[in-house]
This record gives sequence, C-alpha cells and structure tokens, in this order.
Amino acid sequence: MNHSSCIELNTEAYKHNLEFIKSQISKHTVFSSVVKGNAYGHGIEEFVKIALNAGVDHFSVYSSYEARRVYDVIKDENCTLLIMGDVNENDFEWVIKNEIEFFVFEQIRLQKAKNVAQKLGKKALCHVELETGMNRTGFTPEEIDNVLSFFEKNKDTLKFKALCTHFAGAESIGNYVRIEDQCRIFLNVKKHCEETGVKPEIYHTCCSAAMIRYPSMHFDMVRVGILQYGFWPSREIFIEYLKNKAIKESPLWRLINWKSYIMSIQKVKTGEYIGYGTTYLAGHDMKIAIVPIGYANGFSRTLSNTGRVLIRGERLPVVGIVNMNCLQIDVTGVENVSIGDEVVIIGDQGDLEVTVSSFGELSDQLNYELLTRLPLDIPRFIK
Ligand SMILES: *Cc1c(COP(=O)(O)O)cnc(C)c1O
Repeated sequence: MNHSSCIELNTEAYKHNLEFIKSQISKHTVFSSVVKGNAYGHGIEEFVKIALNAGVDHFSVYSSYEARRVYDVIKDENCTLLIMGDVNENDFEWVIKNEIEFFVFEQIRLQKAKNVAQKLGKKALCHVELETGMNRTGFTPEEIDNVLSFFEKNKDTLKFKALCTHFAGAESIGNYVRIEDQCRIFLNVKKHCEETGVKPEIYHTCCSAAMIRYPSMHFDMVRVGILQYGFWPSREIFIEYLKNKAIKESPLWRLINWKSYIMSIQKVKTGEYIGYGTTYLAGHDMKIAIVPIGYANGFSRTLSNTGRVLIRGERLPVVGIVNMNCLQIDVTGVENVSIGDEVVIIGDQGDLEVTVSSFGELSDQLNYELLTRLPLDIPRFIK
C-alpha cells in the first residue's frame, strides 16, 4: 500500500525500553504491556508482534474491540490478555470462552460474567477493580464484602483473579496526597481480603508513573504503557528520575519514526503570500516544498507557521497554514532538494531529531494524546 506517509517502529528501541522496565521491577512482578489506543498510536498488530518477539507474554487493552485485535496476533502464543475497561455486551461470550481476563467494577457486570460463564461451562477470570479515589470505575471499599461473598457463592463460575486499582495522576507530585490516600485504602482492602480468606490470586496497581514512583505498590504485576514506547508519563517524572540517578540522558528510546516525502516544489517571489490567506508573506524569493501530510493525517493545524520537519539533514520550518492534506516547508537555500526527498515529521535524520515532545509542545498536545491520535490508516512497518 502506498500511503503519503509511513510510521516505522524500531525493534531495538523496544528491547532497550523493556530492559529498563525490567530493571525497575522484581523478577516476581509480571510486566503487562498496555496496548490500548492502537498501542499508543504505534499500531496494535505491529507493536504486539515486536513485544512478543522480545518475550512479552501479558497484554492489557481498554476494550473488547481492542482485545480482538490483540487476540488475532497472540492466539497461538502462551499469553495473557486483560481488558481494563469496556466489554461490549456482544463480546462477553467471546471473552469468557477464550479465557480473556477483565476488570469488574459493577454488580451488573459481575452478574453478567456469572451468567455467561455458567452458560458456557467456563470460568470468568475477574480482576476486581477497587475505587480508591480516582472516582472513575471500581467497587467502593464499602461494597467489597458483598463482592467477596458473591465470589464465595459462585466459585465454580467466577475466578477472583486479582484485586486492582488505578491511581489518579501518579505522574504529578501535586497529586501526592491523593495517591497516598489511594495506596492506604488499597492496602486496607487487601488486608481485609487476606483476613477473610477470600483472596485474589494477584494484586496490581501501577501504571508507568506509579511503577517509577511507588515501588512498594508493584505487588504481582505492573501495567505499563507510555514508558515502553520510550516516553515519560510527564516531564516532572523524567526530571525527578534524572536527578535521583544523577544521569543526564533519558534511558528510554523512541520506537516511532514518521516520514513522508516531497511531492512538489514551488518558487515564490518576494511579496507573495504563501498558502491560504495572508499568514505568510515571502520577504525574499523563496523555494517551497509541498509535503502530502496535513491535519487530516495527524499534523495539527496549530503547527501552521511554527512546525519543523527534517529534509536533507536540515531542520526546516512550516510556512503558512497547515492544509487538510498537505503543508508547505521553506526549503530556500537547501542544495539539491528534489521531489521524492524524505521528510521526517517525527524521528531522526542525520544528526538531527524531531522529538514527539517537541512536536507535542508546539501543538499543545500531551505525548499520550498526540501518539494515540496518529491516524489508523498510516501504514506501520517494523524495522
Ligand atoms: C492506560 C492505563 C495504564 C497505563 O498507563 P501508562 O501511564 O501509559 O503507563 C495502566 N492502567 C490502567 C487502568 C490504564 O487505563
């Protein structure tokens, strides 16, 4: 398929990041690779293949829709798949039949899981999500006794696989008190489970930020997304890490490289406007390269007159307004520039790099948001 741009994924970078993550957890703690949001924009199918090859055997997604996509890649492997959010009404049978694990945070879901498992003669593998202060999903501590007795009563159909929770912003020091409260609530309920004897097989709480910041909360598994792709959950966590370790450079590598090419080259005379409207006035005779990438392809319109790309080893500015399907780059003075030349939108070329965070800061998007909004139709390649 010949698309106007492509995304390349660097396998070596993944192995490197995986080593970093493993260095943060004990060998008894399972690493679950979080691949929701199209594997943070990397492409579920391609990314899961890379992770499998690197030895990963646990994946977490948000929805049963995403689970189906992961399942198609891992079905012949010895892997665990966990749904942390939405199980579509029509997917319950598929999920339970294929021993896919899932969060339960509602009495209705628990009842549904029991009914479907009973009908199939299978066990539903449930991760009980505890509401500890995020106020999103989860059973409150007050509801837990009911949940425990429901599991006790339905031992044949429901497996109490895990007790888990999610922190409300572990990537920011400002949330410290709130997270500490969450930890305390989780530990209390964990103790309660142990005392009553209705205990889960495993406990888990940590996302990337919490894995770095709250080692005592790792328990049996960590659910890591953003770090494995080579990005920090926040600048704050990154700087804190550098400071604590007295190092200067991030131990993480970016996997993603997003590239296009020059489609056309134009000469523009002094005093002419470039592109739609009057936002860019040529102050001298200019040479402009047209690149077939626009806001429809994930290149934000807020990068009009501010974005940068790499061509022939030079960092060059976007001039004028970013269009739906193309943008204009000032290539005045770039020697031998020609149609078909590689254009790096995110990634490196020669000694230069456009990082996701620089791109994100200019367009005022979080790493997470920028990555997950990369359109599904851009082809992904494993390198
Ligand atoms: C997204 C998510 C994670 C992973 O978060 P990162 O910050 O990307 O590591 C972990 N747990 C839950 C419940 C999530 O929704």
